[in-house]
Amino acid sequence: MPASNPSRLFLSGNEAVARAVWESGCKVAAAYPGTPSTEMLEVISTYPEIYSEWSVNEKVALEVAIGAAFAGSRAFCAMKHVGMNVASDALMTLTLTGVIGGLVIAIADDVGLSSSQNEQDSRFWGRFAHLPVFEPADSQEAYEMTKLAFDFSEQHQVPVILRMTTRINHVKGLVSVGTRAEHPNLGGFKKDPARWVMTPAGAGRRIPLMFERDVALAAAAEVSPLNSVESGRDRRVGFVASGPTYMHVKESFPDAPVLKLGFSCPVPVEKIRTFAATVDKLIVVEEVEPLVEKELKAAGIACHGKDLLPKQGELAPNVLRPAIAKLLGEPAPEHLAPPAPVFPRPPTMCVACPHLGVYYTLSQIKNITISGDIGCYTLGAGHPWNALDTTISMGASMGIALGLDKGRGEADKDKRILAVIGDSTFLHMGMQGLLDIVYNRGNVTVLLLDNRAVGMTGGQPDPGSGRDIHGEPAPRVDFAKLVEALGVKKERIHVVDPYQLPVLFKAIREEIKIPEVSVIITDQPCVLIDDYKKQKPYEVLDAKCTGCGNCIEVGCPAIHVVRREKAIKPSGKEVELQFVRIETSVCTGCGLCVQPCAPDAIVPADPSKPIRLVKH
Ligand code: SF4
Ligand code: SF4
Repeated sequence: MPASNPSRLFLSGNEAVARAVWESGCKVAAAYPGTPSTEMLEVISTYPEIYSEWSVNEKVALEVAIGAAFAGSRAFCAMKHVGMNVASDALMTLTLTGVIGGLVIAIADDVGLSSSQNEQDSRFWGRFAHLPVFEPADSQEAYEMTKLAFDFSEQHQVPVILRMTTRINHVKGLVSVGTRAEHPNLGGFKKDPARWVMTPAGAGRRIPLMFERDVALAAAAEVSPLNSVESGRDRRVGFVASGPTYMHVKESFPDAPVLKLGFSCPVPVEKIRTFAATVDKLIVVEEVEPLVEKELKAAGIACHGKDLLPKQGELAPNVLRPAIAKLLGEPAPEHLAPPAPVFPRPPTMCVACPHLGVYYTLSQIKNITISGDIGCYTLGAGHPWNALDTTISMGASMGIALGLDKGRGEADKDKRILAVIGDSTFLHMGMQGLLDIVYNRGNVTVLLLDNRAVGMTGGQPDPGSGRDIHGEPAPRVDFAKLVEALGVKKERIHVVDPYQLPVLFKAIREEIKIPEVSVIITDQPCVLIDDYKKQKPYEVLDAKCTGCGNCIEVGCPAIHVVRREKAIKPSGKEVELQFVRIETSVCTGCGLCVQPCAPDAIVPADPSKPIRLVKH
């Protein structure tokens, strides 16, 4: 529950933003979950004063926030960097209308690609949409800048982008917080079609106002206390940095002068020009793109940046120090802290995940091309399934599958095309793609893996789960009816249990032979949500196990190889046998691995036996 009295709290950047949203008197908040942004809305949903929702996608989330801001209330929406690609259609017109109630849009950039399909730099949206960008460097700043952003948004009637990165989103720090101040609604929605209805003529009249606003924003950035100079004794180099790069610069070069950009778009060019004159060499430290660097060079300010520093990944001290030492003609520092030892754990599916059966089955079917999607499904590209052939973006599996079908060459003429998509991803962006397949008579078999949650980001509810953001009952979409409404023939729609491998195998084998669109829906819940029911665990009878390795192909992390042996087959071929053990403490008894075990070596574990933990 939120603290009611001013105090210091230990908060991640996401939690700090959520706290500030609440204190700012925000009325409406919306998001689609996505690492590293998810926790902002999760925390906001605990504040009863704010209407909060998981929207079906980021565009809808932004539209909900826009509507609230048009109605005069403070509003907030959050998304990960790729989410803004989805929301940008609304953003690029929102910049013309502006807002009444303060609107803050938090975008979380996954610098370093911890769980994303690209590393795009969201600061571009500020330039593209002529919007101010604030960049916090720690949790305290995330809190303070969010509050300032609401005020700034109302003062200039412009939405403010709060650009965060994974390091700021997830790292915790002490934050001095206050209390919620109710913020009055700013007069309700006032009819003004010339402002709110963006016909070509109306939009054309608003564009000059946007350029006028640019001038005001640039002037505000020049004098903003968020852009501050910190003097230093060693003036051989001076840094321009924002967000987490400021922290990296301070740690690497504590004696160097730094111009810290908190309000980084529009760039306060004259402030930086004055600063540049006080140091021998100016270095712009920016993660991902040389955005500020290019703007400074265009303004005739000499500086270094990406000529020294990598364009990919975080610019931590172990990257910064050697690069700057080279510029200064000094030897590279020797005593860099070694990376913290972490257990090497490649991403994989959970024990008993219902998708295991799907990917195991797909891995057994030959002559198919599989178009994959974003979410847990992406893991199907890994070992042991190696099942996916493409993955581009949220919901793209549908359209890409149609393209693979329509664009097939002679080499692919007999290949079957499958598309795999999850429930949340389907509702987010996949539905239109399926409609397109139906409308254009594509020959695609769609596997719609309904696990009743946004599994990859931690099991948040979606319209397929029957629950809302607070865990309250909500209408649950019926996927079979939905896909039928999109035009898929009733006889081409199958709902199957993904733990029943023969049933799943038969459904896929039959449908890929039929030259029209089919949808196979799997209907077992994600193992991380409450709906999942555990069964009694299984164990392996060592005396019966032949080491065939079939159960390993299922890919359940509860199955461990404990012994390998070489053997000669009757054909004379040498094979490696893999004898296994099941970690009974985590096995949920889903029964998937039992099915491919020919000698029935996998049996219910004897509950009277103590749990055996596998030693790595
Ligand atoms: S029954 Fe097999 S596949 Fe299912 S959780 Fe246990 S070990 Fe994993
Ligand atoms: S499938 Fe059965 S026989 Fe083969 S390795 Fe697994 S437990 Fe042993």
